[in-house]
Amino acid sequence: MAFEHIPRKDWYRILGAEPSANLTELKQKYQKLVLLYHPDKQSADVPAGEVEERVQRFIEIDQAWKILGNEETKKEYDLQRHEDDLMQTWPVDAQIYLEDMSWNKDEECYTRLCRCGGKYTVSRNEAEEVSLVCCDTCSLIIEILR
Ligand SMILES: [Zn+2]
Repeated sequence: MAFEHIPRKDWYRILGAEPSANLTELKQKYQKLVLLYHPDKQSADVPAGEVEERVQRFIEIDQAWKILGNEETKKEYDLQRHEDDLMQTWPVDAQIYLEDMSWNKDEECYTRLCRCGGKYTVSRNEAEEVSLVCCDTCSLIIEILR
């Protein structure tokens, strides 16, 4: 099963801020950009093609602030970013359910063969918590779904 990764917009970058920026810093960046790109603030000699670009930019800046300016949506977005980072660091080969792995009675663990010939192993204790499992031979990982 192919795992499709949909890239998300980087709202921090749109505001020109670091992901570690606090709310006050983010607000300052936002206010500065809004003044720069607000459709009402554009001078008449800006070429037509650029006006459209600036409007798009303004919409993005506004969206970024809607997400990052609210503690709850910011937290949610930060979490998504963290997961995206994990996925990018390690290639996820498959997303599978624990029931789809074979139960090894002797060793008390779930196993699954990797396409490299190696093996993914999840012990019974680990099965409760882990969601990403590394192959014992190559650098692929699988994601356990619940
Ligand atoms: Zn492997």
